Amino acid sequence: MKEAEVTPTTVTETSGKTVAKGLSMDDRPTDRQCTIAQPITCTGIGLHSGLTTTVRLVPAPNDTGRTFIRTDLPNTPAIPAKVANVQQTVLSTELITETAQGKAQVRTVEHLLAALLGLGVDNVHIEIDGGEVPLLDGSAQDWATAIASVGITIQTAPRPQWELTEPLWVRQGDAFVAALPAPELRFSYGIDFDVPAIGNQWHSWSPSQTAFIQEIAPARTFGLAHQIEHLQSAGLIKGGSLDNALVCSQAGWLNPPLRFSNEPVRHKLLDLVGDLSLVGHLPTAHYLAYKASHHLHTQLAQQLATIVNPG
Ligand SMILES: [Zn+2]
Repeated sequence: MKEAEVTPTTVTETSGKTVAKGLSMDDRPTDRQCTIAQPITCTGIGLHSGLTTTVRLVPAPNDTGRTFIRTDLPNTPAIPAKVANVQQTVLSTELITETAQGKAQVRTVEHLLAALLGLGVDNVHIEIDGGEVPLLDGSAQDWATAIASVGITIQTAPRPQWELTEPLWVRQGDAFVAALPAPELRFSYGIDFDVPAIGNQWHSWSPSQTAFIQEIAPARTFGLAHQIEHLQSAGLIKGGSLDNALVCSQAGWLNPPLRFSNEPVRHKLLDLVGDLSLVGHLPTAHYLAYKASHHLHTQLAQQLATIVNPG
């Protein structure tokens, strides 16, 4: 694979009221909405486009949610991070909105969105000067660390609490994603790959028990060597390299060491958290996925959104 240069730079800026610095989601009151205490800027290469973009996260008011803003386009169109705006889910999750000037899109949103949910950020403006969020090291670690370092401001509006009363699920072949009624939020994931270094892996994570920043955020994107060659020859994953994705062949990992023995399934769990965050305020439930994809994740998010935002 071609080596690409990825040099994430994380800069924190100016003033803001830091109420809770470096805390995990459940070290804070869960009944109030939160935003970041200060802006955060980060630059890097997009996995699919290979182009460099800069993202600036800016604190946002109560009840505004997470909104991408394309600063490079005329009239800086806003693209709310809502499942209704999901356009494409091949290899990554893409959002798109219609504006008076035409369509505005942003791609590979899932790792940043997972970090926002994992660190408890309800409201934020995500200014971006291009069409794809930087991949950074292939995980959500830089996003999570940057958010934790500037801290969180607890806002005045209540955070809506939803409890799931009936199971929901979507299935494709033997792959599925389900939401099961549960007393607290939990995500569980299983994968099964026909390569010995990955094989059958499971992981379960509850925000109330372990911190996202330690257990989930560091898990990197992974791929199979023969599939990657095929994707690259098709002009896809132009920004992919051994610096931002774990690559596996039948003989083993091309670029060890792993950060966790089950790093691949933890990364799938990270993707699930990011995709389900497109619901908005996620109902309390146990989310369980097996061999799923961005497509199935966002299909379940669509069903959940009709419960959370009926009509
Ligand atoms: Zn991913």
